[in-house]
Amino acid sequence: MPLPVHTLEPESSRQLLAQLQQAIGAAQVSTDNAERRLASEDVYRSGHMPLAVVRPLSTAEVAAAVPLIVAAGCGIFVRGGGMSYTDAYLPDREAAVILDMGGLTGIREINAGDLYATVEAGCTWAALDAALQPHGVRAIFWGPMSGQLATVGGAMSQGAATFGSGRNGPSSAAALGFEVVLADGRILETGGAAQPNHSNFFRHYGPDLTGLFTGDAGALGVKTAVTLQLEPRPRLGDGLSFAFDDFRGLAEGVAAVSRQGLATEVFGAETALARQVADASTFKSDLKTLWAVSQAAHNPLAGIKRVAQIAANGRRFLKDSRYTISFLTEGDSGAELRRNLRGIRAAIGSHGYEIPNTMATITRAMPFPPPMVLGPGGRRLLPLHGIVPHSGVATLHAAVQAYLTEQSDTCRAHGVDVFLVYSTLGRSAFLYELVIYWPDEWNTLHRATLPADMLALFKEGEPRPEAREYVDELKTQLVELMYAHGAAHLQIGRLYPYGRDRSAPSQALLNQIKAEVDPGGLINPGALGLS
Ligand SMILES: Cc1cc2nc3c(=O)[nH]c(=O)nc-3n(C[C@H](O)[C@H](O)[C@H](O)COP(=O)(O)OP(=O)(O)OC[C@H]3O[C@@H](n4cnc5c(N)ncnc54)[C@H](O)[C@@H]3O)c2cc1C
Repeated sequence: MPLPVHTLEPESSRQLLAQLQQAIGAAQVSTDNAERRLASEDVYRSGHMPLAVVRPLSTAEVAAAVPLIVAAGCGIFVRGGGMSYTDAYLPDREAAVILDMGGLTGIREINAGDLYATVEAGCTWAALDAALQPHGVRAIFWGPMSGQLATVGGAMSQGAATFGSGRNGPSSAAALGFEVVLADGRILETGGAAQPNHSNFFRHYGPDLTGLFTGDAGALGVKTAVTLQLEPRPRLGDGLSFAFDDFRGLAEGVAAVSRQGLATEVFGAETALARQVADASTFKSDLKTLWAVSQAAHNPLAGIKRVAQIAANGRRFLKDSRYTISFLTEGDSGAELRRNLRGIRAAIGSHGYEIPNTMATITRAMPFPPPMVLGPGGRRLLPLHGIVPHSGVATLHAAVQAYLTEQSDTCRAHGVDVFLVYSTLGRSAFLYELVIYWPDEWNTLHRATLPADMLALFKEGEPRPEAREYVDELKTQLVELMYAHGAAHLQIGRLYPYGRDRSAPSQALLNQIKAEVDPGGLINPGALGLS
């Protein structure tokens, strides 16, 4: 009987594994069940078990392994820190190898004078930031909140937001150049480094090949190294938080702050979510947070003052408002910092009212906490987002609210909650994110990611296949709604409709590029809507 498409004959699988072991060493090729299971899961769900998890330790090993896998007709699913939730690296077939980038963690160069650094793609954002700190510099986008595990290559490939995004936009803003292994093993350099005796200090020399590989969902090649734009680390930072009674006031206030580029980071949440998180947190984790805050303050007296302020005021805002937002801002002098804070207060004006800046302070103290791959109390979570211009967010919000109101009985029946969080990206864009929570069993990745003391505070749910199915339906409908409102997306993976209705010349060019770099369609097949 013929085998279904996308499987390998057992003999071909054995041959491929032997070739890989010979090329990069047996220790780098795992067929262990537990490892294969873990690697085939993301924060949301699981894909097919791959034949093997291949963990190269250098660009040369990636370049040796990739053409062997391609020649065997096997799909290559590239995994960074595994912190995504859009099926972005989940194998969609049995003939699959997971290429785990966690072995490429080196920092090749830190040039604090010309303000760039080159790191291997599997380096985490937390490790990069720690390495840059002694040099008094940081990347202009310096990580997502999952940066304790999420990698530089992962964020560059799928697009990420958070640290530095209020002022500079998404992760791609920091990309100067990439080293990419193509399907046939060629090593491509984008940016200046493509010419002899040139470095990657400047991205905009001719057509922007670096841009081509940002946000490509790993569908155009395997990034092995990334050169990032650095900036001097600002000496001082502070934050302001506000509460709002209505969404329109929130959107107008946030747009006014964003247009002026006053905030480096922006964290917003529906107050109802903050209330849930506060209910689920424990005295122990509060103490940990307070300790970290006191360590991060720039002098011990300020630390004591901040701790006292958090202890006294931290939870009062939870009672009455509907939306909250925290702005972080930075400066090299007290005067610059005060000017920014004044500007933010003036921009918010009468749209909202000021509350203690606890969220901003806590985030600054612990930028890379253990990634919370489960929601409050241990419920499963799925974030979905859309990026819209400031002028479009109130209409999108009204449409989403109307849809969720229609769904409220079904949501209740399945124990599903949907909460809104938000942020800004650069000066024009509002990042509108819905987080779906539901009770369900955990997967291996949840158990492997959260520290044991945190897991002990949570309760695993019973398997809830109907709730899971409903969440999937909700996801599809919410993505459709965002599409109808012209939303753009980071983290496209295999979820967001990047290719749908794309103008013919744009799609044709993309298809031709894919055909050039991956003629067999075997590198992250299906990601970005390409195969
Ligand atoms: C608790 C939590 C907090 C989060 N916070 C944020 C946040 O603040 N901001 C944000 O934007 N996102 C956030 N995320 C989502 C996600 O963690 C980030 O977007 C992160 O950048 C993913 O990086 P990763 O290394 O884990 O990538 P992975 O999940 O491993 O992969 C993501 C995509 O990139 C591709 N890829 C990975 N490495 C390479 C490579 N070297 N070459 C080619 N392709 C590659 C994969 O194939 C896949 O398509 C969060 C997630 C969680 C669970």
